[in-house]
Amino acid sequence: MLETLMALDILIAGGGIGGLAAALALHRDGHRVTICEATAELKPLGVGINLLPHAVAVLDDLGLLPALQAMAVPTSALVFASRHGQTIYEDIRGLAGGYSHPQFSVHRGELQLMLWREAVAHLGADRVIAGERITGARLDGDQVVARLVDAQGRPLERRAGVLIAADGIHSAIRRQFYPDEGPPRWNGMMMWRGTSLAPPFLDGRTMVQAGHRRAKFVVYPIAPPRPDGLQLINWICDRRLREDGLGGGLTAPGREDWNKPGSIDDLLPTFGGWRFPWLDVPAVIQGATQLLEWPMVDRDPLPRWRHGRITLLGDAAHPMYPIGSNGATQAILDATAIAKALREEHRVETALAHYEAERRPMCARIVELNRQEGLDYILDMVEDRAPDGFERLEDVIDPAEVEAFVKRYKAAAGHRQTPAATT
Ligand SMILES: Cc1cc2nc3c(=O)[nH]c(=O)nc-3n(C[C@H](O)[C@H](O)[C@H](O)COP(=O)(O)OP(=O)(O)OC[C@H]3O[C@@H](n4cnc5c(N)ncnc54)[C@H](O)[C@@H]3O)c2cc1C
Repeated sequence: MLETLMALDILIAGGGIGGLAAALALHRDGHRVTICEATAELKPLGVGINLLPHAVAVLDDLGLLPALQAMAVPTSALVFASRHGQTIYEDIRGLAGGYSHPQFSVHRGELQLMLWREAVAHLGADRVIAGERITGARLDGDQVVARLVDAQGRPLERRAGVLIAADGIHSAIRRQFYPDEGPPRWNGMMMWRGTSLAPPFLDGRTMVQAGHRRAKFVVYPIAPPRPDGLQLINWICDRRLREDGLGGGLTAPGREDWNKPGSIDDLLPTFGGWRFPWLDVPAVIQGATQLLEWPMVDRDPLPRWRHGRITLLGDAAHPMYPIGSNGATQAILDATAIAKALREEHRVETALAHYEAERRPMCARIVELNRQEGLDYILDMVEDRAPDGFERLEDVIDPAEVEAFVKRYKAAAGHRQTPAATT
């Protein structure tokens, strides 16, 4: 129960993973939460997503671990491999890696629907509203007045003590505060994201990133094996279309749309010969049950998220390249941080300032790290030094150098392993 701050009326714009996690955390603390999602009918959109252990801990705290365990795959390791499928480095994940919680690979849309159902069960159906799009907001004393349009295009207003804009990379509220920001920044890389049903590869729980900076294949299972032995596998083909975009700064061809269909004809010329001892990449691509295309975009870190009693959360606050499994993870960490700040502070504005102080620098750091290619740097080193493959990894790269690099990235990105596991 609340001891410091009175229960607040909180409006959350955006029923994605970040908005829904925040709704559940704030409701649990006794606030009256309403969440408005622009989409009129929620469908399981997207493909695979990863939840790092520190985000899983937050969902566990909300009582959601059993639901996650039933739908997701506990990732056993992240393997970096050459474009010939040769292992460069294996980073053990989850409990065996010294984390307090598993890392989960899961279908994004199924996870969102699970959180949505939970929100309906806890907040009540009248407070989990589909088909209302936020268009702007203003402060009115100690209230926020949000402007929305409903599914029929009719304007309406909602009042609240706090507005959390969790409305994604094209956030209307972010645009209101930063009208000159323009479109997201593209780094010249295009991602084709697909799912295929295939026999499990390796141990059936491993995530692999193979290739190099110009062409990369990421693959991991996102659901437990089915009775027929097949498993839903998520894969991403990254291809660099422009060399001059490193670090961001290009405008992507067309507006980024998470649901834009892709074509395997764009992939086979590059990946058609990638046959690993443990996975036939072209066969997986050709077996696609779904294929989407998305440019790798982010936005520059903002100087501030809070404007009075309005703040940003998740991709609205810090869209980042989907590298290092941080997209959903950081949104979930935002959710628990804002709930904690409102629990511990007397004044709403101070609480929102504390939330921002805890989260904004960390997220800005990850945006920057990902622009420097994050962990993909390792793949590039091996491709540059041994483009035709290697007999012994140590002839190509010092394994200690790789390990030190991985540890630095993970520490900067906020991974929390027990001391024994990080030494
Ligand atoms: C359809 C879709 C598919 C995705 N697929 C993938 C994927 O396959 N892999 C991956 O790594 N990441 C994917 N993402 C991004 C990923 O979900 C986010 O990076 C991460 O989960 C952070 O979540 P978020 O809640 O901040 O943002 P999002 O997940 O983008 O959620 C934002 C929500 O706000 C809603 N919204 C948008 N504008 C408004 C508005 N004006 N008013 C009210 N609601 C609004 C959106 O419909 C959405 O439900 C996808 C996002 C979307 C929206």
